[in-house]
Amino acid sequence: MSFKHEIAEWPEERIAARIAEADAAAVERALAREERTPADLAALLSPVAADYLEPMAKEAQRLTRWHFGRTIGMYVPLYISNICGADCVYCGYAVRSGNKERRRTLGPDEIRRECDILAGHGYRSVLLLTGEARRAVPVSEIAEAVAISREYFPSVAAEIYALDEADYATLVKHGLEGVTLYMETYHRPTYAQVHLKGEKADYDYRIDAIERAGHAGVRRLSIGALLGLYDWRQEGFWTALHGRYLQKACWRSAISVSFPRLLHVPERFGIPHLVSDRELVQLMLAMRLFLPEVGFNLSTRERADFRDGLIHLGVTMMSAGSSTRPGGYGTYGEETLEQFEIEDTRSPEEVAAVIRAAGYDPVWKDFDYAFDDAAIGEPSHQ
Ligand code: SF4
Repeated sequence: MSFKHEIAEWPEERIAARIAEADAAAVERALAREERTPADLAALLSPVAADYLEPMAKEAQRLTRWHFGRTIGMYVPLYISNICGADCVYCGYAVRSGNKERRRTLGPDEIRRECDILAGHGYRSVLLLTGEARRAVPVSEIAEAVAISREYFPSVAAEIYALDEADYATLVKHGLEGVTLYMETYHRPTYAQVHLKGEKADYDYRIDAIERAGHAGVRRLSIGALLGLYDWRQEGFWTALHGRYLQKACWRSAISVSFPRLLHVPERFGIPHLVSDRELVQLMLAMRLFLPEVGFNLSTRERADFRDGLIHLGVTMMSAGSSTRPGGYGTYGEETLEQFEIEDTRSPEEVAAVIRAAGYDPVWKDFDYAFDDAAIGEPSHQ
């Protein structure tokens, strides 16, 4: 099985036709249904549905509260390396971005130090990140970083280069719980235009990677498209289909979706399909109505005021106090190269206070983790 076969049945012309034919009656039908079809999804993503954001928001809120309660999970990214051999034209880490300096991979002691600082803020869930550098940061080093992080955090996820199933299984053995892997764009011609070098240029290998992670026993799978690379309605449609596909293909894993939006890019690249705030809201609402049980992650790429407004609209996990530099929390400060500028610079405590004020509980511990505690053991640094 592969999502490649499913997406092949939904070429952009077919999606565009469904979106174009959606009228007010189709949007109202989609709103009224309990289980929504791909045709409903197209209607909710259509320009006509832009006039229905309020009822969509109400339904999205109802579904999110039903499935997730009034809780928002807190997580933090930890960059363990900014070395990258790929050339993704939108990224500050790209090998040809002109940024040759300030590249570094953290050693075990440095990772410990960063973990210690983050655990001190109360985080119990961390996302480890690397560039695409299989030689500079081999799987064995990522496995060691996972094992070290597990000494501090009950929940460790990784956003790294795509792996074979056996490599994911190795990381699971070291305590990995989650994998985040964005397709960036599901649109094959755009994918080829923006991924110029390295293994990441292989669309087919990447699109199946998250399913390989699921089959290897990774319990949390997170997907997303980098909004701004291609038409957001098409990307939203494909991402939602991918989410539904993974719910079946990897039924033991919890699926979540992220909404990374391009705002700051290297000088050599102009954002081809800039997504407005209102469009992003419509996308999230349409996605929530189509995928009621899927978690939504929101990073500090977005502005503080915008993030605060989204708390009510389906978000289930938020990062806070983030640095996109290796060693950025205490070891190297601003000495190392950052991947992208963050917009919401508030501390985790400030973000938690806003979540509480909105009537939700910020959750630092992953309750599902109780299942794993018996297998892997509680962290030793608490
Ligand atoms: S997006 Fe990832 S793989 Fe691409 S250049 Fe940036 S760090 Fe490297």
